[in-house]
Amino acid sequence: MPALFIFCEHLKSYSFSALICAVESLERQAAWYPTIFPDKCDGCAGFENPKCVEFCPHKVFEILNGKAIVANPQNCVYGCIACEHVCPKKAIAFPQRITLKQRAQKDKGLLRKVKCRSCGKIFWTNEDTDLCFECRKLMEF
Ligand code: SF4
Ligand code: SF4
Ligand SMILES: [Zn+2]
Repeated sequence: MPALFIFCEHLKSYSFSALICAVESLERQAAWYPTIFPDKCDGCAGFENPKCVEFCPHKVFEILNGKAIVANPQNCVYGCIACEHVCPKKAIAFPQRITLKQRAQKDKGLLRKVKCRSCGKIFWTNEDTDLCFECRKLMEF
């Protein structure tokens, strides 16, 4: 099998278009994650636990300095917007389901793979940070 031909789960066969299919699927995953508006989020004050943290089974959210952050954007499932509705402050938003071509023109917020400058762990982020969530948490105060 030539290297350019790979197995496509959707087509159930080896094909060149599977390569494009795989790249698109990777891009989709990489580009889909929620945004939290920090001015709206109050960390679910008045509730026992932060709703978004409690709700998302993929551990996308964490609490930092009393507000939710998107600590693991790479875990978010493409197309899922389920947690948008659990936020009492309407602080969670999602990208439009736009085409790859549109995204290439518009999206400057793709995830970056970063090595934590403190502990050396590799992590994904859409934020301008070179510290992983755990190390940021340690420096919280
Ligand atoms: S559910 Fe909304 S208000 Fe509560 S912690 Fe998450 S983002 Fe903040
Ligand atoms: S959209 Fe779904 S997977 Fe993504 S953070 Fe919300 S609940 Fe989790
Ligand atoms: Zn770290």
